[in-house]
Amino acid sequence: MSRLHTTAIAATLLAGALIATVQAQQPSGPPPSGAPATAAPQAAAAPPTATTKVTDNVYIFRYVGHQAMFIVTPAGVIATDPISLHRPAKPYIDAIQAVTKAPIKYVIYSHGHFDHSAGGQPFKDLGATFIAQRNAKERIQALKPADVVVPDQVVDDKRVITLGGTTLELLYVGKNHSDSTLVMRLPKEKIIFTVDWIPIQGIQFRGMADTYIPDIEGGLKKVIAMDWDTLIPGHPGPGGKPTGTKQNAIDQLAYLQDLSAAVKKEVTDGKSYDEAMKDISLPKYAAWPNYKAFLPMNIERYYDFWNRGI
Ligand SMILES: [Zn+2]
Repeated sequence: MSRLHTTAIAATLLAGALIATVQAQQPSGPPPSGAPATAAPQAAAAPPTATTKVTDNVYIFRYVGHQAMFIVTPAGVIATDPISLHRPAKPYIDAIQAVTKAPIKYVIYSHGHFDHSAGGQPFKDLGATFIAQRNAKERIQALKPADVVVPDQVVDDKRVITLGGTTLELLYVGKNHSDSTLVMRLPKEKIIFTVDWIPIQGIQFRGMADTYIPDIEGGLKKVIAMDWDTLIPGHPGPGGKPTGTKQNAIDQLAYLQDLSAAVKKEVTDGKSYDEAMKDISLPKYAAWPNYKAFLPMNIERYYDFWNRGI
């Protein structure tokens, strides 16, 4: 915990001072588009943020329940996901600038989904170059979300960024949670950052919208085969845990394989959607926090795969 620099929640003097800083920097105008119209009391206005130092050059910025990685080098910063849907980006930029005054050179989208890619304009205004997988750029250009910066550059299968002595690989391992998910790997630090499909002890989100089956299982095998030790996911794990390990990817693959086999049997036996959702339990994963809430929806997604091939 000595390496954890918390800017909210914790009742330390340092955290208190930083909370005050964040509050002072909240915009005084109307709330961002889509935000609740009724303003919360001032004391609760500052969303909980935290900066975690993972290595000398790699940090995690947490913004409520979202996480992004940023990499600090003498030649500039490589940031990822603005994660600012309905929230100002300034606390993230402030967190980076609290570590370094080096310019933010890049913002790289983990994938196209707006709950991670929105809100990047203040980074753009600082001169950052935006990079995403090609499919993310195409989706953003097609849907034209108001608050998502269109990527300047795209990655097809692989790109390597070298900045100030740090090497970052941007790897596309195929379709999984989206058709535009990158695995960002730091080979020297043995860290990966990838979002929304390899949780720390969690089953897949709700009905697995935009998830490609069985491709996601193939992608997990590719990630497990890569050389890395530390996982930075897009959401913290149970208890706010900011990082995971390769075991989390191994566990996620096992979960999907177990789920798939269980649903396949129900379909083969002629059971209905409702019967499959009622029959299947996977006690091995019952302790994962979202098991109860999301398992029926995960079952429904795999039911569609085995029943209708979609
Ligand atoms: Zn997503």
